[in-house]
Amino acid sequence: MAKFTAHKTLDEFDFKAQPSVNKPLVLELMKGDYLDARENLLLVGASGTGKTHLAIALGIAACAQGQRVRFFRVTELVTQLLEARDERQLLRFKSQLAKQHLLVLDELGYVPASKVGAELLFDIIGTAYERQSLIVTTNLPFENWTEVLGSERLTGATLDRLTHRCHILETTGESYRLKDARRRRRSKPKSKS
Ligand code: ADP
Ligand code: MG
Repeated sequence: MAKFTAHKTLDEFDFKAQPSVNKPLVLELMKGDYLDARENLLLVGASGTGKTHLAIALGIAACAQGQRVRFFRVTELVTQLLEARDERQLLRFKSQLAKQHLLVLDELGYVPASKVGAELLFDIIGTAYERQSLIVTTNLPFENWTEVLGSERLTGATLDRLTHRCHILETTGESYRLKDARRRRRSKPKSKS
């Protein structure tokens, strides 16, 4: 029901490949106390550094603890919000979201959202504040949020709510996809061309 886009677990996560990740914090979050405290988690880092992997692993752990979880890629959530609005179903959609204990919002900021889209998204984040937990993944450094999300005032207010009572996990370092591709290439016999 959470609609994760893939199945990822912490067992499959190689902390040695990503030494920047605060492992003790990840292990602590896996226990789920942040959900009871309505705290958020922000995963910040470049593409391919394991943000979605960790977000899904935490989401699956929360499901196993009996929490209601819903996973969205942010662009999909914004599309669904806009559609619901056009069909006059926005209240219903929002009340479905409000029933979740944890919303995972994956890839905030890859695509500049439209003004209305950004407003609807900020509304979800504002509604969740101190009522639900959010896990948000992003490749955007804080200083670039306004640029992508538009209105400085709205972005400021949203960031303020999101980052109050918030854990931050940074995944710096090299893309795991890139490293993995390189490793595969090395272990493959050279093809004749
Ligand atoms: P991001 O969301 O930061 O762009 P992903 O979480 O999608 O990155 O990671 C890209 C791919 O690499 C996924 O298949 C993921 O499972 C894998 N991956 C990333 N980091 C690790 C890691 N430290 N150990 C194992 N697999 C990893
Ligand atoms: Mg991702």
